[in-house]
Amino acid sequence: MAKLLEYEGKGWLREAGLAVPRGRAAGTAEEAAAVAAELACPVVVKAQVQAGGRGKSGGLAMADTSAEAAAAASRLLGSEFKGGLVRQVLVEEKLDIAQEFYAGYTVNTGREARCPMLMFSPDGGVDIESVPEERLFKLLVSPTQGPEDAALLALLGRAEIPPERRDALAAFLVGLFRAYRAYDCFTLEINPLILTGAGDFVAADCKMEIDNSSVFRHPEMGIEVARDFGHDPTELDLIGWGIEKADQRGSGFLMGMGYGEKSPGYIGYHPIGGGSAMLGMDALSKVGLKVANYADTSGNPVGSKIYRVAKVILSQPGIEGYLLGGFMMANQEQWHHAHAIVKALWETLPHRPGLPCLLLLCGNKEEESLAILREGLVGLPGGERIEIYGREYVTDTEFIARRMLLMVEEYQRLGAG
Ligand code: GDP
Ligand code: MN
Repeated sequence: MAKLLEYEGKGWLREAGLAVPRGRAAGTAEEAAAVAAELACPVVVKAQVQAGGRGKSGGLAMADTSAEAAAAASRLLGSEFKGGLVRQVLVEEKLDIAQEFYAGYTVNTGREARCPMLMFSPDGGVDIESVPEERLFKLLVSPTQGPEDAALLALLGRAEIPPERRDALAAFLVGLFRAYRAYDCFTLEINPLILTGAGDFVAADCKMEIDNSSVFRHPEMGIEVARDFGHDPTELDLIGWGIEKADQRGSGFLMGMGYGEKSPGYIGYHPIGGGSAMLGMDALSKVGLKVANYADTSGNPVGSKIYRVAKVILSQPGIEGYLLGGFMMANQEQWHHAHAIVKALWETLPHRPGLPCLLLLCGNKEEESLAILREGLVGLPGGERIEIYGREYVTDTEFIARRMLLMVEEYQRLGAG
């Protein structure tokens, strides 16, 4: 999911008419001081990273003056928080907190639900996992209609919210769903949702995750990479995303695995299907081989996508082999893979003579696909170490990994020769 930083999420909440604290993001201590001066009130300075728990780990600071805000900002900016570099801080008015709640919508993907779900707890401000089950109230929500007032009021009753607060809180939750839907969120979580001393409900924090498949509907958000890597994207990750972005038909997933050039025993890895990818990776690591990248060309992708993914995999410097790991009986017609691989190998192997290539492919149109591979690769310059396997080996990951290892060892000894 495309995860937004707190200040970005709050910006969209504000657009949607929800109450958020006054404030702005700042990239330098001077800017932070300026924002604090503009606000002219005590402020909170909050590290902007994709991680919660900042409250407990020093990621936010209270400041009474703009000099204090600047000091807090210069401490936070450039530091690391749970693996993320702090490039910005959010400086906003300090709220007068009477009570903290948890409120969020996410997609319940369970077979019995398959719809948005509201989660609400009167015990906000703490990690939601630590809230006891009986204090967390859930409501399945129609994706088209949103939560019904009666159901919301009943939920707030069960949560023992005083009757005079229920209408305002229900109104906030309805507004939150409107934003959830308008921005095609997968998750929109407010923790804490604050009741101020003046009796207003204000979103003090915001975790907004846009459904990757809907990012294209939101050019206003300027999200460049609708894919989660769990780290700042590398060059290979961005190339992979470029392939996916150019054509939505089927998946052409490609990402790096933190591989450095010229490490021995690394192979370009081209699995078909996510589960198949895991099986193959286990088998390879058992024999001491490592994958230079992760990939997946499944979901019936067009040949051009498979070709591009294969080309990028094969272009990684220092790899000592290429494995097309189709450890699955694919429903997709595999001849698209066969054509794509033949083309990619014809363009690559003349420049990497003798590179071990093990091609395993099974499923729909398998016979035809294997024939395309066999015929298509005849006479390929540099194609001395190509082996092709079909359904007999689909579950024999151990055999495939051992063959790959033997081929790699021979290549290490003899190279192109
Ligand atoms: P997180 O720990 O990373 O989720 O950061 P939050 O933004 O949720 O803040 C954590 C806690 O800091 C909240 O639960 C509040 O108790 C406190 N906090 C955050 N903003 C304010 C504020 O404006 N005023 C006050 N008094 N406390 C705040
Ligand atoms: Mn929080």
